[in-house]
Amino acid sequence: MPRESTADKIERTQKILSALKRVYPDVHCELNHASPLQLLVATILSAQCTDKRVNLVAAELFKKYRSAKDFAEAPLSDIEAAVKSTGFFRNKAKNIKACCAALVEKFGGEVPRTMDELHALAGVGRKTANVVLGNAFGINVGVVVDTHVTRLSNRLGLAKGTDAVKLEQALMPLVPQKDWALFSHQLIWHGRRRCDARKPDCAHCEIQKLCQQIGVKINRR
Ligand code: SF4
Repeated sequence: MPRESTADKIERTQKILSALKRVYPDVHCELNHASPLQLLVATILSAQCTDKRVNLVAAELFKKYRSAKDFAEAPLSDIEAAVKSTGFFRNKAKNIKACCAALVEKFGGEVPRTMDELHALAGVGRKTANVVLGNAFGINVGVVVDTHVTRLSNRLGLAKGTDAVKLEQALMPLVPQKDWALFSHQLIWHGRRRCDARKPDCAHCEIQKLCQQIGVKINRR
């Protein structure tokens, strides 16, 4: 396959973005939330867990704990029990409590709006910060790279490897900044609905002509 120029790759990415806009016109963050704080907590809980499970757990959790102060003052064992079914619950509970204590102490209980401030909070990596900034505040400072974005950007031939930081750096120049959060959601939705990790449905894929299908075994009949 001839090497694709950067200009051609940007053009192809634009076409993918437009096509996925048509396929998923109502694409959105699938973690239910009614505030930046709820999204922050839900995103911490989502590590190694499905959004569906997080939404179930979070619905009960947010009835009990309504503010950062509520989480900060709650006994750790209570938070652990409430989030147990999301996995890695001890670590997640510890991070939620510490993160919320810092929100109370440094930000008056509010979620800050910069990458540096968010990233400094317990349990908040660049991915979580990107999710919160892009979805709660509409601030695009990066591209969320999760397991779906990693898999799809490799298969599509947009970026290579599994290092989230390197993938994010490779994807950002390909997509207009205003669309960074949108593009992540599009790849996540397409990954969940069409481009499965084990069995990608290439035959029915809406962006098949734009995909290099790297690493995908194609069943030719
Ligand atoms: S063509 Fe196949 S590998 Fe490419 S995005 Fe579609 S389902 Fe995934």
